[in-house]
Amino acid sequence: MTSATGTESAPHDAASDALWQQDTQALHAGYRGREQQRSAAVPIYQSTSFVFDSAQHGANLFGLVEEGDVYSRTANPTLAVLEQRIAALEGGVAALALASGMAAIDVALATLASAGDHVVVASQLYGGTHNFIAHVLASRGVQSTAVAKDDFQALRRAIGPRTKAVFVESVGNPSGGIADLRQLADISHAAGVALVVDNTVASPLLLRPFDWGADIVVHSATKAIGGHGNVLGGLIVDSGRFDWVAHAGRYPQFSAPEPAYQGFVFTEKFPDRAFIARARAVLLRNCGAALAPHSAFLLLQGLETLGLRQERASRNTLAVIDFLQRHPLVERIHHASQSGHADHALALRQLRGGHVPALLGFELRGGRQAARAFYDALRLFLRLVNIGDSKSLAAIPAETTHSLLSDEELARVGIAPGLVRLSIGIEHPQDLLADLAQALEQAQGHAVLAAEREQDREQNREQDHEQDRDQRLAA
Ligand code: PLP
Repeated sequence: MTSATGTESAPHDAASDALWQQDTQALHAGYRGREQQRSAAVPIYQSTSFVFDSAQHGANLFGLVEEGDVYSRTANPTLAVLEQRIAALEGGVAALALASGMAAIDVALATLASAGDHVVVASQLYGGTHNFIAHVLASRGVQSTAVAKDDFQALRRAIGPRTKAVFVESVGNPSGGIADLRQLADISHAAGVALVVDNTVASPLLLRPFDWGADIVVHSATKAIGGHGNVLGGLIVDSGRFDWVAHAGRYPQFSAPEPAYQGFVFTEKFPDRAFIARARAVLLRNCGAALAPHSAFLLLQGLETLGLRQERASRNTLAVIDFLQRHPLVERIHHASQSGHADHALALRQLRGGHVPALLGFELRGGRQAARAFYDALRLFLRLVNIGDSKSLAAIPAETTHSLLSDEELARVGIAPGLVRLSIGIEHPQDLLADLAQALEQAQGHAVLAAEREQDREQNREQDHEQDRDQRLAA
């Protein structure tokens, strides 16, 4: 059970959860039915509040003298199972569930940085995160510097005395680039700064950022974790390894009395999980981006099959890439499984289990127009902006998720105007390839027509030019 600040005291079975393989953790970590009316499925605690035995009991729960649930804005037993399960899968000590991935990013960064502070972001970012950091955080007085994810010199230069986080996506959405987490962690730590990694695209089954030195992981659980496109959610996981006391000069909020929580000192009460405790007690409790218990239940359902879905989606992705790279209309494919990709070696080193991310981008000869024709012709792939669904999805990022970025910003995050993003699901591969083939055929017709039209225009221009010249000569 949880307390006013949630699951911050170690659940009694966390140690045995940690011994299991991830496929087993995804089904069992954080929950033993014997203790819950012998219910095999995780119960949905659809309750805003939890009853006190007495005035003293209430006071003890609020004072963190005793553990127990109080109010679902801060903690709820169904969410606690999800939190413990993701903590086990990521190899962290504690986690916090929130209403969406953006809420998780907001709370994670706000736990570290406030007005006057600074964060560094490695440039391959989901468009919403880019917007949030560049505009919303900035409006709250937290400035940011963007550096290319591989420009380690620029990263060292960008970190200053007020820098409170280095933020990166382990696998970029939509670029598919892989961040060198070990290097990023070493550089951040040398400067005394925490590394925050968005592990949404990879999921913990494909990549565990804590194994490479990251300090905090965030997820849009809306994607692969939920896996069925029917629930929004976000998660923050604490590695428990960043020494907030040793870096109290930069991060006084963890080891000094907290005015927003009765003068509480988080590193004293929760020495190994001060980050998550503060995120819950100060940020979530006061800002309220709480996940609904029913949503937590759906995310737990999704997690149960994450391993199976990922295996199938990975195989399908490789089949799609193999097909696309042999198609004459496809100009370029962005996926780190390709030996020519700049991050191929990193993919081999960091990705687990021989699987690949089910997210890929490709560009068509014929640019934006051909991409639009291809997109409109899709019959099986769903035209929408999401990733990580068990159904295959397609989007044109420059026109949707990243439409608020300027051309310069688009170029910086590696998005061509005609880039098509595919999120590969678990359908039969034959049907996926058939859909791509027919849509490419239609795009090809469009590209040929567009090329012919361009050729006609060019011929007309030449004829006009010759007529002009003849008229001038005649005059
Ligand atoms: N992080 C990444 C990498 C994403 O792709 C997304 C959404 O697409 C988010 C965070 C935001 O997640 P949510 O939509 O759950 O708020």
